[in-house]
Amino acid sequence: MEKREQMYEGKAKKVFATGDPELCIVSYKDDATAFNGVKRGTIMGKGVINNRLTNRLMRLLMENGVPTHFVEELSDRDTLVKRVQIVPLEVIIRNISAGSFAKRYGVEEGIVFDAPTIEFSYKNDELGDPLINSYHALALKLATKEEIETIKAYSFKVNEVLKAFLYEHGIELVDFKLEFGRLADGSIVLADEISPDTCRFWDVKTHEKLDKDRFRRDLGGVEDAYQEVMRRIIGE
Ligand code: UDP
Repeated sequence: MEKREQMYEGKAKKVFATGDPELCIVSYKDDATAFNGVKRGTIMGKGVINNRLTNRLMRLLMENGVPTHFVEELSDRDTLVKRVQIVPLEVIIRNISAGSFAKRYGVEEGIVFDAPTIEFSYKNDELGDPLINSYHALALKLATKEEIETIKAYSFKVNEVLKAFLYEHGIELVDFKLEFGRLADGSIVLADEISPDTCRFWDVKTHEKLDKDRFRRDLGGVEDAYQEVMRRIIGE
């Protein structure tokens, strides 16, 4: 399958059409942004790592009954995926307090929750991805009631599967963001990426940050952290 015209360029990925109207090619870049594009930089090798990690985790989720857009890894940076219409919702699942949760509710980072939380943001850069609830999502016609129920159920399943898998590899899954899409037949599948750009990963023992917070907070060792996650999960 070959790349045809570029359909879209986002902050971390480009999407290309293919000869098949139901398939696209995602190409991962090394560009990094944070705080809704205000902070910009490059994380060398990130595109390769995020492509390979996302695909490993998408495969794991498919084996565990979560449908995804993943089709085939084509190269270090390129992956063939099913074409979807992205549901303009960012779903955030949290197991441990961190980031905007800690800030919004005035609590420290690192509080382990009794049960995971779910929140939705309206995916809209101009508005800064405002936090909404599922009633707002319905009112804004971002998804149907049934779709929202499906998205919630898949998101908690993703958390269960990923949390257990990552723990075996010495990684605590603190929180993460998911995006879903609709296939041509209207069914909901997990789309986008699952990587240190979109998840908080802490070392199980030391709680060292192994994710984009190293970039957001200028902690240094960004490339090494991404490499370490890849080594633990893929073994390279
Ligand atoms: N996240 C993301 N994209 C966003 C916002 C958040 O991938 O636009 C991820 C982020 O990496 C973290 C989780 O979602 O793993 C929760 O992020 P939070 O709401 O704490 O926001 P942040 O502190 O990153 O602004």
